[in-house]
Amino acid sequence: MTLTVKNVTKTYGQQKALDDVSLELKQGEILALLGPNGAGKSTMMKIISCYLPQNQGEVWVCGHNVVTESLRVRELVGYLPENNPLYLDMYVREYLEFVAGLHKLGKNTKSRVDQMIEQTGLVPEQHKKIGALSKGYRQRVGIAQALIHDPKVLILDEPTSGLDPNQLVDIRELIKETGKHKTVLLSTHIMQEVEAVCDRVIIINKGKIVADAPTHELQLLNKSNKVIWMELEKEQNLELLKNIPGILDVQREGRTAARIFTQSEKDLRGDIFRFAVSNQWVIVAMRHEDQSIEQVFRQLTFEV
Ligand code: ADP
Repeated sequence: MTLTVKNVTKTYGQQKALDDVSLELKQGEILALLGPNGAGKSTMMKIISCYLPQNQGEVWVCGHNVVTESLRVRELVGYLPENNPLYLDMYVREYLEFVAGLHKLGKNTKSRVDQMIEQTGLVPEQHKKIGALSKGYRQRVGIAQALIHDPKVLILDEPTSGLDPNQLVDIRELIKETGKHKTVLLSTHIMQEVEAVCDRVIIINKGKIVADAPTHELQLLNKSNKVIWMELEKEQNLELLKNIPGILDVQREGRTAARIFTQSEKDLRGDIFRFAVSNQWVIVAMRHEDQSIEQVFRQLTFEV
């Protein structure tokens, strides 16, 4: 295994950020850690990158323990922290040479920096100050610094947050391309990102893993939790549907339609129909829906 996390718990004072989390990552996988804000994603990534020690449990990267062999682990891991902290007054090339120096690349520095500039598409911007770059190019610099020592594992904490749609597509392409040669763990709360980039997804909520599946299987994961799409003739108080046993959540779609999340093996369309009739609502359409990752995510991280 390239990465093994076993029964890891992390608390900040009274706050439990990770609660007995275990996961394994094989070589070459691109795994998304998906979860709402505060779920524990960054904490997990900081522990794997040796920035924070866990309170309980063990983490190994390529068989090396993050606590007892942290220098070796730092050689094996490339890390792009959330918000990509960069030295804005440094030039792109100067900064990458500086990072190469931290990794003691010695005489390989120039060729490695050249290679990273080429690989991350920084050639046209390489002579600029980092502060003068767009957010998309800054992310490229962040990814280049994470890759400079040729790590086996790449950890990217929300690598596309704050990017415009074009930059987003470019950075996703870069991650996908990089992922062909590395093992990648990235965090995101953007569902489309998972579908666009990742082989596998772990959904984390309140410090616990609530789902772990190949991306294409996640839609099937909660087969028993059906989603029903319904449209009424007129606007009504759709929240009332939550009074029907087995209905978890009602998400409005425009004025008259709703997506209804149910937690039931039973088909609830009959119950919804009778409820509508008793309230004199006129249903003009109703159907079961295939679940997107977004819907599974909402169900699994929904506050019951
Ligand atoms: P995510 O990356 O999924 O948004 P985090 O790992 O940043 O989640 O945070 C998990 C929980 O731990 C949150 O409730 C957050 O407030 C808390 N937390 C994170 N860092 C600290 C810290 N340095 N001190 C205290 N609480 C923290």
